Order: sequence, then structure tokens, then C-alpha cells
Amino acid sequence: MAYEIVIGLEVHTQLLTRSKMFCSCSADYASAPPNTYVCPVCLAMPGVLPVINEKAIEYTVMTALALNCTIPEYTKFDRKNYFYPDLMKGYQISQYDSPVGKRGWLTVDSDGGKKRINITRVHLEEDTAKLLHRGDYSLIDVNRSGVPLMEIVSEPEISSPAEARDYLIMLHNILRYLGVSTANMEEGSFRCDANISIRPANSKKLLPKVEVKNMNSFKAVYQAMEYEAKRQGKLLEEGGELVQETRGWVEESGTTVLQRTKEYAEDYRYFPEPDLSPLVLDRTWIEEIRAGLPELPEARRDRFVTEYGISLYDANILTASRAMANYFENCVRQMVPGKAKMVSNWLLGDFSRLLNTTNTIIENARISPKHLSDMLVLVDNGTISGPTAKAVLEEMFQTGKEASEIVTERRLSQISNAGEIREVVRQVIAGNAGAVADYTSGKQQALTFIVGQVMKATRGRANPAMVREIVTQELGGK
Ligand SMILES: [Zn+2]
Repeated sequence: MAYEIVIGLEVHTQLLTRSKMFCSCSADYASAPPNTYVCPVCLAMPGVLPVINEKAIEYTVMTALALNCTIPEYTKFDRKNYFYPDLMKGYQISQYDSPVGKRGWLTVDSDGGKKRINITRVHLEEDTAKLLHRGDYSLIDVNRSGVPLMEIVSEPEISSPAEARDYLIMLHNILRYLGVSTANMEEGSFRCDANISIRPANSKKLLPKVEVKNMNSFKAVYQAMEYEAKRQGKLLEEGGELVQETRGWVEESGTTVLQRTKEYAEDYRYFPEPDLSPLVLDRTWIEEIRAGLPELPEARRDRFVTEYGISLYDANILTASRAMANYFENCVRQMVPGKAKMVSNWLLGDFSRLLNTTNTIIENARISPKHLSDMLVLVDNGTISGPTAKAVLEEMFQTGKEASEIVTERRLSQISNAGEIREVVRQVIAGNAGAVADYTSGKQQALTFIVGQVMKATRGRANPAMVREIVTQELGGK
């Protein structure tokens, strides 16, 4: 039997504010020893009152606007009650029925087409303390408690594991462009829970959904969704019954395991937070925030295509991170007009390969955009050949030296002197009688071989176009 997959995603992301959501403690919780960034408010002492962090509201409005949400006239906070040791107060201040942003969307390029995924809401809450489990006891670190946490909930409209991954990558990218969060998945500042259910193809009936937690990378989300869809389909085929439950992704085994049967909203006994009055979201302020939004990935990608004439495919990769897109534009600006395609090819080719193999993020690369463009100028004006440039780039990458320095040190300048090249060509022809005979008998690939030998003999320094021309002349061809 064929099934359709229905996925809805909930993303929690910590906001990059300096202080916590409701007190003046530093929100940089990981940089301090446990339980040092705390105060009576985030320790939930009796009689204390929370104060709303304005920057957190601003960041949430920015995100909601970037996700095409409606910003209501006012918003309020609610208490979400549950008994759990990571909550100091015994409740979490969250938002229930008046989130900061409602009914937005984002566009995902997936499976070869564009798809709009609707966003139900963007709301603000506070992070919990961190529990560290040590065998038969647990430790608690309250530093993280009260750090602003923004939640972005999608409609259950995602229809494949790949689409779920692409949605997350796009959302992650938008948050980084906005600068509202580090969105670092490994450090837990960008966490994703997924609700997944299946239904028989062409049916409207939804089967009970399963919530999957503990996915710490985009790949994990993809794998967990694949696994879960298969598990649910198999269970049904074997005559089993699906129940609403929460499962955890186990990276090592590539499976999900039952954590608990799902709580329903009623269990949280939400009610308006009596210690905070509702917030009016001033229209002028909202419009100021809207006007100040940076260019977002999709718009930037489209501009790259029209402004620089590069392909949509390349533009997509270049704008996948703000740092890469900035690097590209920085580099293009250093060069004469019309070289964007060349910059893009080098960035996405050899440069990205070096970043990947050394596991380096572009922000930490030792080659600055200025140095890369200087190197490309040397290629463009014929000082060094393409193959030489690859070696130069690698050395620049490892040592942080400038291209001109490496070229001088290693005497790598391209040989564009016809007489000098002809001399080498003659030597190669004299030493490769077999290839010459092949060429004379009409085998064109013999020419490529001889050209290759000349390039090898000059350690890649000879101008390839000139070599080809001279070899052809010397062999008496056209
Ligand atoms: Zn505090």
C-alpha cells in the first residue's frame, strides 16, 4: 500500500540577546561556570517579577516579518505549567493564543520545484535549565534558564523527508541572515521537533501523529523522517495500530524509540501570565523594523542571477550562507566588471573543496576576499596558468600567504614566450615517436597527450592555448 507523508516542524531557536528574557542576567550561558549567571528572577525566588526583554521582542518581530507573518496589534504571555526539574518556577512563561507572529510562509526549493510552506506562528518563550544526567543522579545548571527562546511552527504541509530538511535549511539560513540567532544546531541553539504522520495515498484521513525529538543535524532530521515513515507504514501493514506518541531519534542505531505518549495542550493548564501586562505592538515601530530588514537569502539569490549573470544553481549555493554570499560579493567588487562567473567558479570549486576537506568555515579561512581576487587577477592576465593557480590557491589556503608572494618564491609565472614553449614542444615530440605516429595516422587524442606532456615538462607553467597551437604547428597540422 502507498502512503503519503505529512510532516509539521517546530523549531526552537535561542535569540542572540545580551541578557535573558525576563531578567538582566547574561544570556551567554555557555561561557560561564554552571549556576553563575543567575539571579532571584531566573532562580524563581518568591516575590520577584519578570521584566520583558525588548530586544527579544524586536528579534521575534524581525523573524515574523521575514517569514511573511501578520503582526497582531498586541501580544501577551501565558503560563505553561508542567512539573519538571528543569523549570525553576514550576511553569514556563510562553505564549499561547496571542503569538508575536501569525500566518506566515516561506518558500522552499525542493525536488526541483518551489513550494510554499505555511507557518502557523512565531512566538517567544524562555529556555529551561540544563540537566546533566550522571548515572543515578542528575545535576542542574540554571545558566540557560530564562534565555530567550523563539518557536517557529509550520503547518503540517511538508510532504517528504527531503522537503523537511530543505525547509529547515532555508529557515536556518534566514535566521542567520537576520542575525537574530547563531542557530548552531550542535550547540542546541537551533532545535527541531518533527510531527510526522502518514495516510493512505489520495485519502484525506490523517492517522495519529508521532513527535520525533533529539535530531541534532539536518541529516538527522532527514534520516529520522525516512525511518519513521517506514516504521509507521510497516506497523500498519502488519495489522498494528498507530498511537499518538513522542519518540526520540537515536543517531547511533538510526532508529526512533518510544519516549512517552503525547501530552495534550490541556495538560499544560495555560493561563495568562498575571505578572506581565499585554504588550501593544506599535505600528510605527513594526514598520521601522520592516524597513530595516536585511536582504534575505531568496532575494539575494535572485539578485545574484540578474546582477552577476550566474546560474540559479550556483546562486543558490553562494547564498546558502550569508558569509559565503558576502565573501563572493566582496571578491567580485575587487575585480574588473564581468568577472563574477570566474569568482563563482573558483569559490564553488577549488575553494569550497579546500574548506570541506579541512572542515573549515569560510569565516575562518586564511584567504581574504582581497587575496583571492588578487590571485584571480594573476590568472586572468595570464601571469599564472589555471593548473598553477590551483596549487597556488592551496598554498594560500594553508599558509595565508599572498598569491604574488608564492608565485615569486616558487617561480611559477606562466611561460607565454613562444620560443621557449616551442623548444619544449620539440623535445617532447622527439621523445614520443609513438604518439606522433598515432597523430599522423589521424588519432586526434594523441594531440591531447602531447600537449599534456608539454604541460608536465613545464610543471603546468606553459600557457595551455599556446602549447596546443605550437604542437599543432610542429606536427604540421592545422
Ligand atoms: Zn537572572
